[in-house]
Amino acid sequence: MVRVRFAPSPTGSLHIGSARTAIFNWLYARHTGGKFLLRIEDTDLKRSETRFLDEILDDLRWLGLDWDEEPIFQSKRFDVYREKAEGLLAAGKAYKEGEAILFRVEPGRTIEVHDLVHGTISFQTDTIRDQVLVKSDGSPAYNFSCVVDDSFLSVTHILRGDDHVSNTPKQILFYEALGLILPKFGHMPLILGPDGAKLSKRHRGVSVREYQAEGFLPEALANYLILLGWTPKDGREVMPLADAVREFEITAMNDVQAKFDVQKLRWINSEYIMAAPGETLLPLIKTHLRDAKFDISGKDDSYISKVLELYRVRIKTLGEFPGMTDFFFKDDYALEEEGRKRIEKEEDRASLEAFAARLEALEDFGHDAIERACRELAEEKGVKPAVLIHPARVAVSGKTKGAGLFEMMEVLGKDVVLKRMRRVTYG
Ligand code: GLU
Repeated sequence: MVRVRFAPSPTGSLHIGSARTAIFNWLYARHTGGKFLLRIEDTDLKRSETRFLDEILDDLRWLGLDWDEEPIFQSKRFDVYREKAEGLLAAGKAYKEGEAILFRVEPGRTIEVHDLVHGTISFQTDTIRDQVLVKSDGSPAYNFSCVVDDSFLSVTHILRGDDHVSNTPKQILFYEALGLILPKFGHMPLILGPDGAKLSKRHRGVSVREYQAEGFLPEALANYLILLGWTPKDGREVMPLADAVREFEITAMNDVQAKFDVQKLRWINSEYIMAAPGETLLPLIKTHLRDAKFDISGKDDSYISKVLELYRVRIKTLGEFPGMTDFFFKDDYALEEEGRKRIEKEEDRASLEAFAARLEALEDFGHDAIERACRELAEEKGVKPAVLIHPARVAVSGKTKGAGLFEMMEVLGKDVVLKRMRRVTYG
């Protein structure tokens, strides 16, 4: 049975690259009916913090991942690593340097890694120094605790980032020395920032939380990260996790580095926003409105839902929603400079008033009735409907673009619309 693991160090929040690693391990486990395990690599007692661990676990759940068995913590297993290191000491494969225990690397050997993603990679042991197993402070070195625990957890496949390729021959030496069964290794090419350098803290948007805060849906982020490591057979790009579980093939993982393309992520996000049930989006949208300091206490859910339905096709992230819809939530909405020109001329004021008078007479303020009134008035005046529509749009929304005017008016309601069309000054 396939057993894979994700092994975060709780020294910071979940990085996009680590999230991708977690997703692929999870995908492989779910695809094969195997197990997906968590191991917390908290050997650096000073830098590891519970709040980071909580964040990482929350972020994994948010992305839609679940895990099997209880996570194991390396900080609780220092005596196990010491015991294994002392075994190597007794066998003459390691030696002491002060309090530290070091592994003796035999020169002149070639170590081959049969990598699931890259094919065979060879290393010469001449280039590998003797390796620390246990440091003088009693904590284990990463490569050693990693091997001891992967064996303890009976991990069959190790899928991780290319930044660990050079660790693999060292780990293989430990497997040999301890007489353990070797797992299979697969290293995923690193994700590059838009400038072609490895995605790092210098770039914006390296943590899962930043995307969450900007209003990306977890399904969209997970989908995008999948595309950064694997190209589905039919080239399909909208690939929810559930479909990916079915279709995933480890042999089809990409062996070239991929650039993080935020425009593509935004496009995928918009696809998920369009498809999401309204009741899923509503609480998220409300959070974004509150974060933008809009007072929505007087607005009920059905009002906000109507605005959402008008705008969900226009936003690429939920974070864009407040800026596009401010006029639904406050009267001091921003007036675009371009818009000002469309409502300050004498003839614009006149057509606004004529249109307002027609709307005032309407009993049914549904968008069809509003549209009919607009077209009738335009016909009577011998002008195109646009002559009435443009100034009205700017007057009620402050913007030259947005959802359909008649739908917008229906949601705003007659009183608000008339008041705004008859305002003397704007913005
Ligand atoms: N804690 C290591 C990391 O986050 C785990 C590496 C591994 O998967 O072996 O990079």
